[in-house]
Amino acid sequence: MKDYTYSLENYNPKVGKHICPSCNHRNVFVRYINNDTKEYLDGTIGRCDREDKCGYHKKPKEFFQEHPSYQVEQPYVYQNVKSEMVQISAYIDDETVASTLGQYGSNFFVQGLIDVFGQDEVMKAVSRYKIGTRVDRDDEVIFWQFDQYMNCRSGKVISYDRATIKRGKTISWMHTILGLNDFNLSQCLFGEHLITSKHDPVIVVESEKSAIIGSIVIPEFIWVATGGKSSGVADKLKVLKGHKVTLVPDIDATESWKKLVEENTDLQGMVVNKYLFCVATEEQRKNQYDIADFLLDERRSDCAKAKLP
Ligand SMILES: [Zn+2]
Repeated sequence: MKDYTYSLENYNPKVGKHICPSCNHRNVFVRYINNDTKEYLDGTIGRCDREDKCGYHKKPKEFFQEHPSYQVEQPYVYQNVKSEMVQISAYIDDETVASTLGQYGSNFFVQGLIDVFGQDEVMKAVSRYKIGTRVDRDDEVIFWQFDQYMNCRSGKVISYDRATIKRGKTISWMHTILGLNDFNLSQCLFGEHLITSKHDPVIVVESEKSAIIGSIVIPEFIWVATGGKSSGVADKLKVLKGHKVTLVPDIDATESWKKLVEENTDLQGMVVNKYLFCVATEEQRKNQYDIADFLLDERRSDCAKAKLP
């Protein structure tokens, strides 16, 4: 084997630092590089900047002793490095997110919910999910996606009618609105940051609105949303491996989600709930009812009843 020398990577602002494999903080980990080939070593070899709080430092020599098979000269796959670079740049910074957390008086989605569920419950949900407001665009709400490490993967912008809490047709993304070029969107579950323990029972729904409303009506569960019925659902769900998970698909996605769970070993043990599929009337099917519609109907009829003399 050729004798290589290794050194810590020089800081490159374009790449930034990496995610520490020990404390999982982002932008703090400096990796070792092969001085000859300029390639990264394994992603766990490097030093964390958080010397006091984390203190992780894995030197190449130490790693090779623990993993003797790595002694063989092997091409370290450069694509890995690239994909991590992309991932690292693809977060929205905390200040940008913070600047959207307010002005809920002119946020139709939030006000629509308050009309049904009241100020207290809704504002708790707003702060739980860190729902954002678009200034001067009252009908638009920002559903920020935070992953389990509180990295913000971007925000989905949807317009809502205040009276019906029904959405408009178009979706846009905050990274596009902010003009972040080359932003490689890597979505996660909406509400993923709320899952803190393997013991938390989780309900997965399709839309952000359903997750928020579900969390108000049935708070015993952590409600997360895939943000759609098909693209990337299985990938997003992998983070829930080992959790107690119930999937509540929209009526038209019941069969496809069932198939998804059956075909993915990572999703083993997740239960697809067919309640909506079973109880929906023909009319509700035609109107593509989802769990949020059911919960809203229920709450509205409760309120109607309560108003009766
Ligand atoms: Zn660390």
